[in-house]
Amino acid sequence: MAETYKGEAYCVKCKEKRQFEGFVNVSDSGRRMAKGKCPVCGTTVNRILGKA
Ligand SMILES: [Zn+2]
Repeated sequence: MAETYKGEAYCVKCKEKRQFEGFVNVSDSGRRMAKGKCPVCGTTVNRILGKA
C-alpha cells in the first residue's frame, strides 16, 4: 500500500520549486523519498523525506 505525499519539490527542468502530489518510496538504506511529477512540465521530481 503506497503512502501519498503532497508538498514541494525542486524541479530540475523548471529550476523552481513546484507543488506536487506523489507517492512515498523507501529506499534500501531506509530513506524515505517522495516521488511525483512536476505539474508544469511533467518531469519526475523527488524529495528526500528523511528516515522513517
Ligand atoms: Zn517542471
